[in-house]
Amino acid sequence: MADEIEPASRSNSSLPARVKFDLDYAPALESTSIVSIADEYGLFIGGQFVEPESGEKFTTVSPSTEKALSQISSASAVDVDRAVKAARRAHTKVWGPMSGRDRAKYLFRIARQLQERAREFAVLETIDGGKPIRESRDVDVPLAAAHFFYHAGWADKLEYAFPDRRIAPKGVVGQIIPWNFPLLMLAWKVAPALATGNTVVLKPAETTSLTALLFAQLLQDVDLPPGVVNIVTGAGATGSALVDHGDLDKLAFTGSTSVGKQIQRSASARGVPLTLELGGKAAHIVFEDAAIDQAVEGVINGIYFNQGHVCCAGSRLLVQESIAESFVDRLKNRLSTVRVGDPLDKNTDVGAINSAEQLGRITELVAAGVAEGAELYQPQCSLPDRGYWFRPTIFTNVQQSHRIAREEIFGPVLSVLTFRTPEEAVAKANDTQYGLSAGIWTEKGSKILWMADQLDAGVIWANTFNQFDAASPFGGYKESGFGREGGLQGLAPYVSLSSPRGVA
Ligand code: NDP
Repeated sequence: MADEIEPASRSNSSLPARVKFDLDYAPALESTSIVSIADEYGLFIGGQFVEPESGEKFTTVSPSTEKALSQISSASAVDVDRAVKAARRAHTKVWGPMSGRDRAKYLFRIARQLQERAREFAVLETIDGGKPIRESRDVDVPLAAAHFFYHAGWADKLEYAFPDRRIAPKGVVGQIIPWNFPLLMLAWKVAPALATGNTVVLKPAETTSLTALLFAQLLQDVDLPPGVVNIVTGAGATGSALVDHGDLDKLAFTGSTSVGKQIQRSASARGVPLTLELGGKAAHIVFEDAAIDQAVEGVINGIYFNQGHVCCAGSRLLVQESIAESFVDRLKNRLSTVRVGDPLDKNTDVGAINSAEQLGRITELVAAGVAEGAELYQPQCSLPDRGYWFRPTIFTNVQQSHRIAREEIFGPVLSVLTFRTPEEAVAKANDTQYGLSAGIWTEKGSKILWMADQLDAGVIWANTFNQFDAASPFGGYKESGFGREGGLQGLAPYVSLSSPRGVA
């Protein structure tokens, strides 16, 4: 029942009055009974779970409760070598010679199994990584299945993707993925590699290995030939051993720019082809003629989706000066209704920060923002006692030189800057070492096209944000990396092309 009417903001009386309801959501907890987590896991090599050579394991915890979930194996260089050898055998004997039509059948089976077991994968992803169940259920898992369906479609049609070319798989591919979209990043990497005839050694992130290990069980269920996909869990040292292995035909990495640079040095010294999908500091640009209510939703979704642990997050809001004050008021108003808490609650909008380390990085950068003179706003929401949490944050009075305007925070923190003209918006948007994504809100189509042409970003959304599709290539410029994932362009890094005999 409405018990009072208050203005949306005291500082701007032109905003519509907001009816305040004194009702709270009842908890709507997703059941976890569908998930069974083993006490410990081996490495997935040659189609079997095997013990690591050193016997070393580490504990993985749930970031929303800090409870230990399982013991995960730590793969050494010897284990990585076993995995690469298994992948090489599978490539030479089975997967390389297999027809595209037969490979497609396996990819379709994987996609269908992901759909059938969607709730299990979504609940496990949320327990292990801290993201809201609403997102793992509605975004991560459906998109992962869509990637396998999409690439299954290509597997027997590669000659249409690359007409008049002789097409060969690269061979054995090493892939390293981060913790922000564990299953989805696995799908982005594994699906195009398998569709084009490669075999894979994949290293998931240390804090989020569980859905990759459930995926390994799924691969056993669909009878994927042993060694076609191998999963080596472990920390950065395992990733490093994979990168440095001498018998890889291609590497693909998603993660931080600093680790990406190390990998680039190692790969280029040995001439190993590489795809890098690295950090970002996306400009989310709102013009005065935009549909304001939709833009507010877009900006909120652009930065607080997945706790801001998103490489393409709209972390720098550039709003036209004429509407800046009222727009920020609306954002603060909207933020007061964002629900932070138990990620297994279906009402939750912002879940747990993925790890204590990441919480430390966010806290340090936010403190730097305050110290450099930016103005901090956080809504008064109560946070659970256990787990890793950070209040959704908005910084105003941000200067281009501030660390919070330049560095990837990878957390629920929005930095607000203003501009007067489209030219100034472009100059500020491009004033970054990154070039992954950008968003534009305006009712003028010509302005969208002009802006998109000027912005140094691999992905540009107009009047929407954070839309992903398996058919649409994704990737960056500058220090955001190179190479594309998804779409036709995402197949190219996994094949070697040559002219057929008789064609110049
Ligand atoms: P990293 O780049 O360290 O991790 C990404 C993956 O690389 C993980 O699987 C990691 O393993 C592995 N790895 C770490 N070191 C090496 C190495 N030397 N050689 C090969 N692989 C390695 O990211 P962090 O988890 O440390 O996050 C740090 C920051 O990076 C974040 O705050 C964020 O700004 C950014 N980031 C960006 C991402 C993006 O998608 N653009 C994704 C993740 C982070 P392990 O997890 O076991 O350490």
